[in-house]
Amino acid sequence: MSGHNPSDDHGLNPALAATRFCPRCGTAEPRVAYPRSLHCDACGHQSYFNPKPVAATILREGSGDAPGAPIWLLRRGFDPGAGLWTFPGGFVDLGESVEDAARREAREEVGVEVDIVGLIGVYSRPEDRVVLVVFEARPLGTPQTSPEATEVAPFTAATLPWEDLAFWSTTQALRDLVAGRPGG
Ligand SMILES: [Zn+2]
Repeated sequence: MSGHNPSDDHGLNPALAATRFCPRCGTAEPRVAYPRSLHCDACGHQSYFNPKPVAATILREGSGDAPGAPIWLLRRGFDPGAGLWTFPGGFVDLGESVEDAARREAREEVGVEVDIVGLIGVYSRPEDRVVLVVFEARPLGTPQTSPEATEVAPFTAATLPWEDLAFWSTTQALRDLVAGRPGG
């Protein structure tokens, strides 16, 4: 989700960095306020660019804050973060709610329907292109592997693989979960 290198300024909005013409009328050299916006003086077209929402669920079983309650993680099949542990999540599509996207991603990545029980947190940084929204959810079956999840495994608050997590936001959301945020 956040494989972006903060020193690579163009990484924040590569499409805008490469734009040479107005996307509506084709006039050359629209005014670009990188990385946020584009304005065409010829036709008046304006585009504004924002971080994209990503929805995720941390699957925890049972009563949640019981110390031994299993917390399911997946080992990522693809970069960024291939081979490291995180939880299912992905971009929110137009036409679905954040919660819909969170449930869909769990279904696609680890093959289970889930019940969302609460919001764990919202995670963003100026140098990232996404805003991550993480829910706690109960899996309604046993999580399964997929091309995106080459391994799935239950951990407990005491056994979480802190040294092998995929993203800063993975670490932060898991910390917030085990610290007992709402939903736990
Ligand atoms: Zn134009």
